[in-house]
Amino acid sequence: MDFVEQLKSSVDIVQVIEEYVRLRKSGPTRYVGLCPFHTEKTPSFSVNATHQFYKCFGCGACGDVLKFVTELERISFYEALKLLSERFGIPMPKRSEYSDPETKLRAALYQAHELVEQMFRSNLESSIGPEARSYLGKRGVDPAVAREFGIGYADRSGRSVVRLLESRNFTPEQMEASGLVLKRDDGTFYDRFRHRLMFPIHNESGKVIAFGGRALDPGEQAKYLNSSETLLYRKSYVLYNLHRAKSGIRQSGRVVLVEGYMDVVGVYASGVHEVVASCGTSLTSQQVQSMRRHSDKIVVNFDPDAAGASAAERSINLLLDEGMHVRVVELDGGLDPDEYCKQRGASAYVEKVNGAKNYFYWLADRARGKFDMRTAEGRMAGFQFLLPAVQRLSNRLERLAVVNDVAGYLGVAAGPILENFRKAAGDRREKAVRPEPESVRPVERLLLNLLLVNVEARERLVPELKRMHAVERFTTRKIFEALFALDEAGESVAFSQLDTRLDENDRALLVSAVLADGTSDSSPSLEQGEACLRALENSEHESRRSQLKARVKAAERDGNFAEALRLAEELARIERE
Ligand SMILES: [Zn+2]
Repeated sequence: MDFVEQLKSSVDIVQVIEEYVRLRKSGPTRYVGLCPFHTEKTPSFSVNATHQFYKCFGCGACGDVLKFVTELERISFYEALKLLSERFGIPMPKRSEYSDPETKLRAALYQAHELVEQMFRSNLESSIGPEARSYLGKRGVDPAVAREFGIGYADRSGRSVVRLLESRNFTPEQMEASGLVLKRDDGTFYDRFRHRLMFPIHNESGKVIAFGGRALDPGEQAKYLNSSETLLYRKSYVLYNLHRAKSGIRQSGRVVLVEGYMDVVGVYASGVHEVVASCGTSLTSQQVQSMRRHSDKIVVNFDPDAAGASAAERSINLLLDEGMHVRVVELDGGLDPDEYCKQRGASAYVEKVNGAKNYFYWLADRARGKFDMRTAEGRMAGFQFLLPAVQRLSNRLERLAVVNDVAGYLGVAAGPILENFRKAAGDRREKAVRPEPESVRPVERLLLNLLLVNVEARERLVPELKRMHAVERFTTRKIFEALFALDEAGESVAFSQLDTRLDENDRALLVSAVLADGTSDSSPSLEQGEACLRALENSEHESRRSQLKARVKAAERDGNFAEALRLAEELARIERE
């Protein structure tokens, strides 16, 4: 068996997908959840354990476990193989046939990041690290926490990373592509990070793909500096700490979003493990989609200053657009999340997060500060300020209820506004759903489900089916022909084998026959299969009889009595059978 097949047969697609998407069991072998490939509020993403296949009935995404990992992690096929074989401890044969130049470069970059992370870590604990250690001490970061987060130190020399990578024989091209060093005009390199506290940034599967560096010199202009974008690191897709936070997010049923590395570290150390940050960019819709795969509830806790508040405002609108349920934490005393945890203690912070208010009350408070609520104009302006966020709610009833609440909160007469609002907002529609392909008859559906998983049924039924004309009238005719061909060639007849031998239209038919809602969840029995064959035979008989009857009548009408008699005899013979 080729390695790809071997891997696929020893890895469970449900287990793999569950690491990225919350799935709910909806039948003995079927799971459903919100699609990670498009924005939706009701689950149309389904995973089938029998056929080891996923399919979204909203956007049409479908495939096997390797396709899922490739698309979700945005990596090559070879890397998906490697990732799964490492995770499940299946030794992978050393062959380069799957490896293209880009994949090779990516592998080198992962290795470079691993080496550099180790060096930064040991710098921190060595004789060159006292300033960095004392900064961590001042911020109240325990050495054990620093180790858990892989925090390190980039020294002042500006040559350590370059030397390390050169000594490990990285090529100049690889060094330049790493984003960790910069090139001078004369072609030589120097380190991007100097005298900074270093935070490794991981991808969702926990590999280091970039660094964020905090300046230790107060005179330094850029307080924070991040790796440049590379093959591994696309800022807008990465959430800091997501790989560590995802199990906490599942357990608590919410994401806590903060602004910076230190906030994440402080909040996480306080026991709130569901915390992430969008570092080095303002929040993007790709980042929201990554968190939404784990929970659609979010608590936003940005810095209390003006910049933090307007970042929160922007983020709230984006979060609502992506269908998240948003609450906002406000910490008193002008403290940021990290300071609050240190000064007031972990349990006080947890209480604040648990008591976070629905986002529109927070926005209403913002409006109160911005506009003069003593005048009718001011109140109206405040209300206008809130409207965009309310309009983003896709549920009409919820929208109207919120308008009412907020109007009351601000002391504005809701009546006329509601009237306008009803007209303006109309009914928003969710994204159009792709039309399903032609529907497949229950008989065809049952037979396909049976033949794909049951060897005995194939041995007994395929020879009979091949003789029957009924198959020629199946919507799924081509699928059956491909299945017969596989069976004849003695190859394994599994969903994925069949899938690769079909064109797009028949593939969609196969998916709808085998995975669609409404298909029975337990595999059909051989007896059911035999009953189907008998039903098909009967209907074949029935159609031959009615054809003959029609021909007898036609012959009589034409006065061709000899022919009519011959056909009538044939009809009688069939009926005796
Ligand atoms: Zn989808």
